[in-house]
Amino acid sequence: MRIPVAEPCIGDEELKNVIEAVKSGWISSKGKFIEEFEREFAKYCGVKYGVATANGTVALHLALKALGIGKGDEVIVPTLTFVATANTVTYCGANPIFVDSHPEYWCINPEKIEEKITPRTKAIIPVHLYGHPCNMDRIMEIARNYNLYVIEDAAEAHGAEYKGRKVGSFGDISCFSFYGNKMITTGEGGMCLTNNEELAERMRNLRDHAMSKNRKYWHETIGFNYRMTNLQAAVGVAQLKKLDEFIEKKRRIAKWYSEELKDLEDKGLIKLHPEMPWAKCVYWMYSILIEDKAKICRDEFMKRLEKIGIETRPFFVPMHLLPMYNSRERLPIAEDLARKGINLPSSVTLDKSQMTFIIQNIFNVIINENSIYSSHF
Ligand SMILES: *Cc1c(COP(=O)(O)O)cnc(C)c1O
Repeated sequence: MRIPVAEPCIGDEELKNVIEAVKSGWISSKGKFIEEFEREFAKYCGVKYGVATANGTVALHLALKALGIGKGDEVIVPTLTFVATANTVTYCGANPIFVDSHPEYWCINPEKIEEKITPRTKAIIPVHLYGHPCNMDRIMEIARNYNLYVIEDAAEAHGAEYKGRKVGSFGDISCFSFYGNKMITTGEGGMCLTNNEELAERMRNLRDHAMSKNRKYWHETIGFNYRMTNLQAAVGVAQLKKLDEFIEKKRRIAKWYSEELKDLEDKGLIKLHPEMPWAKCVYWMYSILIEDKAKICRDEFMKRLEKIGIETRPFFVPMHLLPMYNSRERLPIAEDLARKGINLPSSVTLDKSQMTFIIQNIFNVIINENSIYSSHF
């Protein structure tokens, strides 16, 4: 038996909807579940319009295209994120410009954004990393001052809140993913949200080959097939009804970890997943940093846990260090986080006995290793 970092929680409600969709014959990208999922998810986030997509990556691409991002433009992204955030900028012929992380809460550091703005800068993509919201007041202020678009990458943070307001409701457009390990899933899937009717219409059009509304097979620009299927949406409608429950469970798991591992943090051996006073974190993946004082390196720590059936994941590799983006700059906070950070098992399916097992083993690995190494000094 292996405890995974994140697994989906799918039940009879999802199955019932899928059966209904299959029996109705509406199995492609038209059907009642698409409209319901778009409407209900947008409403949940406090945004007017939802445009469902095939996955979260194409949701980001669609948002950038709808805002007219193109060749030679620059788009500011955090260096510490999943690669899709940067790649979709590149798909447009634009250049991702990387910004360092905030040392306290790991998302993009707003104070490091302005120094990266040039006359070519068109947009900022803040990423609500591992379920923690970005500092949206500062980011929106900078965007206003420099006339930049904001696209929130909320792929990891459905339901997270900044000062009591849900993420995804701040930017010109926000993008979500419903991949199997995200807060809620449709298998593969994504969505763009916006309060701007014209942008919503443009995204719907681009999602469907940019076909003219009035003339069949008339296309004035190059569009995409980025549609979600009714089958995916059928799963999504049922998952959305459980989202608040999932968030509560994730926060309970986080509380367990934070309370049980506090001793290790007090000793300076690890750092716990932060939650700023202005934030409601949904802890998509509860994460810790293995500090240098622990004397066991992060990768060795992960190997030991793997051996006893506990899966963990390292933090993302910062984008500016990847071969295709190697920008030969130093972004020290992100590099430090990426070297020390791991995601712990965070599924809503975790039970108390598994939690106890994980916590005991984290103590064993860190404390034992610590004593072995200490004897050398
Ligand atoms: C998962 C994820 C995506 C991409 O979503 P997919 O549905 O897997 O294409 C984009 N950005 C971030 C931050 C993600 O975690």
